[in-house]
Amino acid sequence: MATVEARKAQLEARLDELTARLQRIESELEQPVSDSFAEQAVEREEEEVLEDLGAAGVQEIRMIEAALDRIDQGTYGTCVVCGDPIGDDRLDVLPQTPMCRDCAARR
Ligand SMILES: [Zn+2]
Repeated sequence: MATVEARKAQLEARLDELTARLQRIESELEQPVSDSFAEQAVEREEEEVLEDLGAAGVQEIRMIEAALDRIDQGTYGTCVVCGDPIGDDRLDVLPQTPMCRDCAARR
């Protein structure tokens, strides 16, 4: 069974990784637009992909920050909906999850 400290280290590492990735995405999106129409079309598609990645990353960052708050408050590992413990095997896969498997499945 992983300790809360180990979970926290795992979450913080993931947060750093996501923050660095989002900064890269933002700098890509700030690149100047090409002159050629064909290249512009490709760039627009790439930008849409990057924006989707960015939105998913922002969402994950929010969940990780909320999980780190719950660690500070001592409520980490407890489902925010029903109050049951979240299984360790679930936290291994999704350490930032606020819900147990049953409640997540009901959403
Ligand atoms: Zn639950």
